[in-house]
Amino acid sequence: MECAFCDRKSLESQIITETKNFFVMPTMGQIVEGYSLIIPKKHVLCYGLLSEKMLDEYLELKEKIDKAATAAYQKPMYFEHGIVGQTVPHALIHCVPSDRDLFQRLLLRNYSIKEKRVIESEKDLRQVVRDFGPYYFYEFNGLKMAFDVDSHEAPLRMALASVLGMPELADWRNMNRQSDEKSMRKTVENLKKLL
Ligand SMILES: [Zn+2]
Repeated sequence: MECAFCDRKSLESQIITETKNFFVMPTMGQIVEGYSLIIPKKHVLCYGLLSEKMLDEYLELKEKIDKAATAAYQKPMYFEHGIVGQTVPHALIHCVPSDRDLFQRLLLRNYSIKEKRVIESEKDLRQVVRDFGPYYFYEFNGLKMAFDVDSHEAPLRMALASVLGMPELADWRNMNRQSDEKSMRKTVENLKKLL
């Protein structure tokens, strides 16, 4: 299968932790150190298409990651590009230790949002995907939101890089490989010892 997240052989050394149905690894393109991805082992396009049982398992794992990331770095924000502009068509939740809220940027500037919905839990993404189709999930400071957006909308990585004043870091292909790999290794090291 031609999917980097399904064929995990090349990723093994980067796995921070895993459960029956999920694994966690640093993202390529560490806009900030500690930036990691929570990935279902099943090849599925977005979290809204996972079963409730799988989402329970995810939420339990996420709580642990949240504690570790907060201890090692700072309280993370989370986002998912639910079937929007995916370079790899495999669901990912981005976990980014950062206190810079992307919401104003999102809403007011770069993105065209058709509808915003505050949700209680990622489990509500199952309804969101039925209602919106392609969506963005965004969580900051415990507030969880889903946005109805077009499938060609720009990735939230871009908003993040731009809010941090480093727009050039949005494109992981153009990042300095050496410093990126160093940051990935430190992310693995720092989170692993706290899990
Ligand atoms: Zn896959």
